Amino acid sequence: MPRILMLHTGGTLGMAGRRPSALRPAAFFRTLKARVPELFELADIELELACNIDSSEMQPEIWAELARELYRKLPHFDGAVVTHGTDTLAFTASALSFMLPGLNKAVVLTGSQRPLGEIRSDARLNLIDAVTSALRGPKEVTVCFDSRLYRGNRVRKVKVSEYDAFESPNFPVLGVLGVNATFEPGLRPRGRPRLRDALDPRVFLLKVFPGMDPAIPLAVLDHVRGLVIEAYGAGNFPVADPLRSLAPLFREAKRRQIPIVVVSQAYRNGVDLTLYESGAFALAQGAISGYDLTPSAALVKLMQALAYTRTVDEVRRYVQTPIAGELTR
Ligand code: ASP
Repeated sequence: MPRILMLHTGGTLGMAGRRPSALRPAAFFRTLKARVPELFELADIELELACNIDSSEMQPEIWAELARELYRKLPHFDGAVVTHGTDTLAFTASALSFMLPGLNKAVVLTGSQRPLGEIRSDARLNLIDAVTSALRGPKEVTVCFDSRLYRGNRVRKVKVSEYDAFESPNFPVLGVLGVNATFEPGLRPRGRPRLRDALDPRVFLLKVFPGMDPAIPLAVLDHVRGLVIEAYGAGNFPVADPLRSLAPLFREAKRRQIPIVVVSQAYRNGVDLTLYESGAFALAQGAISGYDLTPSAALVKLMQALAYTRTVDEVRRYVQTPIAGELTR
């Protein structure tokens, strides 16, 4: 019998009640056995409670604990499944993919839109598909949801109340779990598995919008070591109106040696800072193109870059070098 490590972190999947609250560990395990008995035919499952939270409470310190646990235990298992709330699942999937480079086992995150114990819950199928993917799918950090397997650091939560809650706008699916389950090969493992669990969360994610007072992002610089800017389209932002121009922000960040990573608000494709005046200005000030990174992957990667590098140039190299297939240049 293959062995699967299942780390439960909480989320809707493990909730119950009218005003849903987290099932206690014993009740969760009982519900799991009663509702998805097939799981235990697929594999010998070791269930471990990492935490039991709504994923809006997820924090970088828990990502690091999860990464350490996976790093320590995976050599004794054939793969792992991490159950997680859908709200911040994309952040956790990115973090685990960056913290566990050279992974040689599958780590599959899943969750559900409806609690496991409820009729018409999507949890049952998602769990069975996640275990199947952990046993047969690519050996990298992935997200399994609604019969699809995605690269973890490429996903976005796109729906609140429909079952196909995730998409991977800039990268093809890694698996389709229909009548048959078919998988792509995924990342080729490079080197030995490593643990890179340090992060510096002193970052901020700023979305550009018409009418933004540039004094606010300027004030943010007092509190951060790095910034991700979700710019318009190809990486654009206002520079013409002196009262609304973000040019002073880029100049000041350069003066203070605070790296700015630019990603796009657009859902598909990535930024090209060479295309328009504002992007070119940003580049000249040393801004870092985040190419087609999702905003959440860019933010987590910047946290990691700040923990492992010292200069803006080193952060640039770190952010722009793929660790686990998270960006296309
Ligand atoms: N708020 C929940 C969570 O992220 C939503 C879900 O799991 O779907 O934990």
